[in-house]
Amino acid sequence: MAIDKLAISYCRQGHLCTPSDRFCTKCGEIVYHACPNCGHSYPDVIVVGKKPDSFCSNCGEKQPWGD
Ligand SMILES: [Zn+2]
Ligand SMILES: [Zn+2]
Repeated sequence: MAIDKLAISYCRQGHLCTPSDRFCTKCGEIVYHACPNCGHSYPDVIVVGKKPDSFCSNCGEKQPWGD
């Protein structure tokens, strides 16, 4: 399976992770590479220091780190 674009990944706590990570290097939680509900990739535009959006922009499902 080819990876044609660098995907943004987040752990269960919302920490920014690299696509090759399976577990977060900061907290040890599992890393998500896309929305668990619909498989939609996370936006590749990130704001440093800001938590990722709590809801999927494609299906509206709450993400694992959402409150
Ligand atoms: Zn983490
Ligand atoms: Zn989704």
